Amino acid sequence: MKTNYHTHHELCGHAKGRVEDYVKEALRHGMSDLGFSDHAPSRAIEDVRVRMKYSDLPVYVAEVRTAQVKYRDKIQIHLGLECEYFDTNPAYYTELLSEVDYLILGQHYVHMRNPRHGLLSSFSLQHPDEVIRYAKSIENALKTPYFNLVGHPDLYMCGYDRFDGAAEEAAYIICEAAKEADIPLEFNANGMRRGKVKTSTGLRHPYPVEAFWHIAKSVGNKVMLSSDCHKPSLLHDQVIEEASRWLNDIGLTMTTHLNYKR
Ligand SMILES: [Zn+2]
Ligand SMILES: [Zn+2]
Repeated sequence: MKTNYHTHHELCGHAKGRVEDYVKEALRHGMSDLGFSDHAPSRAIEDVRVRMKYSDLPVYVAEVRTAQVKYRDKIQIHLGLECEYFDTNPAYYTELLSEVDYLILGQHYVHMRNPRHGLLSSFSLQHPDEVIRYAKSIENALKTPYFNLVGHPDLYMCGYDRFDGAAEEAAYIICEAAKEADIPLEFNANGMRRGKVKTSTGLRHPYPVEAFWHIAKSVGNKVMLSSDCHKPSLLHDQVIEEASRWLNDIGLTMTTHLNYKR
């Protein structure tokens, strides 16, 4: 069974390809399900070339819905979006969910220690206190009914050197919250495509980070492998095969279908 629910679109400004390009690639690989989850537009976060514009949301929705009908005999196409969670505006999520079927939580930012000072990129967290804030933002998101999958939950390790006590505490906060909410954690192949980074304990992918996944295994989380492709040719590449082997070696149980009821 080949499925992928984390697929981007050129509308976000840093991906290549449109819906049909990804659908054709999925058919080439005999996939049964393809879910689109491009970066949701946002009024709160002003980062250019990271997300689609509000005016492009209807374009995206129409393109995916059209493909759903056109290819319905060949493949199941799902319509989602990827977005951050900030508890300041719940209406934002209900508004997005009136357009799409599911949301992937992609916590690319966390609040600074003082929220009034703005946001910090989750790709470059360096202090124990920051990784805990990252984990708590995910815990808070999972107390809401908005999300169906936790995208790259171990993203906090991207710029963080060691899997120390804070990293472990963050992992437990995230894994236990996901278990409690019965939401799968995503094992993100795109982190592997970023190559390896040098840390004081050796070379490793920025994410996924193995120590995190041993904790997910001990907590008993559901795990979903995603491509998080930003280019059609990456939808089902060698990295996906490598990631599946890695998941098997760790002994994680994979879930292949996303539960959404809307
Ligand atoms: Zn992206
Ligand atoms: Zn993504």
